[in-house]
Amino acid sequence: MFIDIHSHIDICKDIDTFIKNAKKKNVKILTAGTSPKSNREILKLKIKYPEIKICLGIYPIDALKISEKEIDSEIEFIKKNKEKISAIGEVGIDLKHAKEDSLETQKENLKKFGNLAKELDIPIIIHSRKAEKECIELLEKLNYNKIIMHCFSGNMKLVSRIINNNWNLSIPANVKHSEHFQKIVEQTPIKQLFCETDSPFLHPDKLRDNEPANVIESYKKISEIKKISLTEVEKKIEENYKRLFSRD
Ligand SMILES: [Zn+2]
Repeated sequence: MFIDIHSHIDICKDIDTFIKNAKKKNVKILTAGTSPKSNREILKLKIKYPEIKICLGIYPIDALKISEKEIDSEIEFIKKNKEKISAIGEVGIDLKHAKEDSLETQKENLKKFGNLAKELDIPIIIHSRKAEKECIELLEKLNYNKIIMHCFSGNMKLVSRIINNNWNLSIPANVKHSEHFQKIVEQTPIKQLFCETDSPFLHPDKLRDNEPANVIESYKKISEIKKISLTEVEKKIEENYKRLFSRD
């Protein structure tokens, strides 16, 4: 079984086809919420397609658009749905699309979701665009290691820090052409790797909307770089999944 640890199936145009394509290729889908609205969409999708795994969270930019009270009530909502979810995500800090002066608020928000993941004892999937160091520093204080850094764009020194913290990195399918992600694969022990598509974003060949079935591109590249068979990569990452997502 292949696993797409991070996607946004609720905003894909042809959900039905994408889910069918994934099934055909033996790809398990995890889809992440980005806002209160998207969290509810995803819970509805889970009823229609019980085979998908879901993660609930608020994307850092979306979290800046709502009040503290709304964030707290969303956290209560997630707690109420804890039996249905596999992880907390997508959450984090973004300084590419938000200004520097939002940093303190973003940190407060991430802290809340970090505590939530720790309380529920489930993994947390982190977005850290242009705030890689800030995310790492904050998460180190959390003292929790079921952490997956998604599509990590920070430098190799920070990658080492993630590895030493015993956290995990998820490699997007565009690793096919991205030297940065190829270097991350080289440096990271396979027991700390996951694969993702971030569908509908980041198509490996930038041709069209991305879909979970393309996660196999990440597996192929890992197999090539680590010089182990595709089946072996598949097996190892499934072991990682079982270890981290022990409730699933
Ligand atoms: Zn995402």
